[in-house]
Amino acid sequence: MVMQQQQQPGMIYGGQQMPPGTMMMMVPVQAPQGPPPLPVYWPPHPTTVHCPTCNTMVNTTTVKEPGLGTWMIAGGLCIVGCSFGCCLIPFCVDSLKDTMHMCPQCNRVLGMQKMV
Ligand SMILES: [Zn+2]
Repeated sequence: MVMQQQQQPGMIYGGQQMPPGTMMMMVPVQAPQGPPPLPVYWPPHPTTVHCPTCNTMVNTTTVKEPGLGTWMIAGGLCIVGCSFGCCLIPFCVDSLKDTMHMCPQCNRVLGMQKMV
């Protein structure tokens, strides 16, 4: 009473059914002019990226500025009872600030590396 008709090996779908001409379906849709995308992760130091405005590779200029994380640390220091001067420490430490990457040629902000 055992039906073995459905136990055929799936060799038909092993990739041999596609004719060679269907390779174009695998290519994602691209813009005619595809510059390299800006990085998702920005390092805290200047890096080389493609500026979409200048349409060239540039070495970014980094600007440190206090961000949300800086204020959170400063607020945390206030809460735990540090003096007024201690609260300003995060604003003096570059590693606790956000890093803004700007194009040195057109001064466009290309990306931000945020603490939080
Ligand atoms: Zn630029």
